[in-house]
Amino acid sequence: MTGASFILAINLFIAALFALAFFLVGVSNRTDRAAPCFALAYVCGMAYIASEFVLPLQDIPQFAYTAGFASFLGAVTAVSCGVSRRYGQPLNWPAIGLFFAAATAANWFGYLLPHDTVPRNLIYQAPYAVMQAWAAWSIVASRRRQSIDIGLIALFALSAVQFLTKPFAAILLGGSGDSSSTYLATTYALYSQSLGAMLQVATGLLMLTLLVRDMLVAVTERSETDPLSAIFNRRGFEERAAPSMQHSSLPAALILADLDAFKSINDGYGHDTGDQVIIAFARLLRETAPNKAIVARLGGEEFAVFLPESNLGSARLLAEAIRTTFSSLQIPGLPVFVRVTASFGVAERMGTENLSDLRRRADAALYGAKRAGRDRVVGAMMPDADTMPAHPLSGTSLARSA
Ligand code: GH3
Ligand code: MG
Ligand code: MG
Repeated sequence: MTGASFILAINLFIAALFALAFFLVGVSNRTDRAAPCFALAYVCGMAYIASEFVLPLQDIPQFAYTAGFASFLGAVTAVSCGVSRRYGQPLNWPAIGLFFAAATAANWFGYLLPHDTVPRNLIYQAPYAVMQAWAAWSIVASRRRQSIDIGLIALFALSAVQFLTKPFAAILLGGSGDSSSTYLATTYALYSQSLGAMLQVATGLLMLTLLVRDMLVAVTERSETDPLSAIFNRRGFEERAAPSMQHSSLPAALILADLDAFKSINDGYGHDTGDQVIIAFARLLRETAPNKAIVARLGGEEFAVFLPESNLGSARLLAEAIRTTFSSLQIPGLPVFVRVTASFGVAERMGTENLSDLRRRADAALYGAKRAGRDRVVGAMMPDADTMPAHPLSGTSLARSA
């Protein structure tokens, strides 16, 4: 066995491992559209390696030569398709099919050119370079620039250059063999297969890291989102609002809202209709709150809107706008004459107050709104007057004037 054959055998093993790894990622995360492409890519890679072993045994190796080429082109094409999918880039199937067919046809006829010449080797390697360049371009076009994205761009670009320079490396290293059967015995084959192994491992590991990280992000997002209302849950809210208050004394305000007499909606019109009310209120919060706001369902029919860089006045205006819009909303499942209302407590951050202190004051204000008759906005007292009940008039006067 030559050195190149030995590395080829190692490549076969590595390709099988990656095919299995991407298959498992695809199975455990059915929404991942890139993993099946990557699994297919490594299966195609295995077919290519098998063709390299079969090639020297053939009397007329043209078929195995082009079949091997097409297998590896299939592998790099599948990688590029997976990368494009992962980075949200469009896939032009007719162009991909046309390119694949043209490159394979060129390779079939390229086989008839004199062995070990630059044009013949370029016809073999250039399509791979094009596919790798396309993968790099898909990431560039997505405008994502995290370190893993940059790493993949660099790796695909390097790989494209490596394919283009191979015909010249073959000359420098004393040729790629004067026939298909002697290729594996050349120094060039050793160089080519070793480089292939390194790039295969590096690309496979980066892509695997990317997909596993995607899975972790998706799981975290799911654990921080309320499935009914599609806004943050308590955990998602705290994960975002608390850090923004930890290291600064920037102004911020908090609106807490609780639907009025919600139990009677559930009792009178059913739990599903109650759910529709929750969905409608969450949608209204999302649509009305500014982009920077953190909107969450804290539990049951209690909601929060955290407003960075906001003061009591603007937060109360926002709460008032939500209150009036909601109280006139027709909710699916409820008779047309039935309207649901909500009560609001609003607090502005004082000094370096933390989230739980701010929330306690907003909660007290909300309690004040409920006691004062519901369907109203109440502003919180100052922190030093924490023990006093919230002043119902502070919100009612605003409510009346709005
Ligand atoms: P108040 O005006 O004082 O807030 O009265 P209320 O009836 O709204 O009182 P309370 O806050 O105690 O009632 C909350 C109800 O919300 C009780 C619970 O059954 C219901 N609830 C909690 N989560 C859900 C949910 O996901 N869907 C539905 N439909 N109801 C829920
Ligand atoms: Mg309630
Ligand atoms: Mg409640």
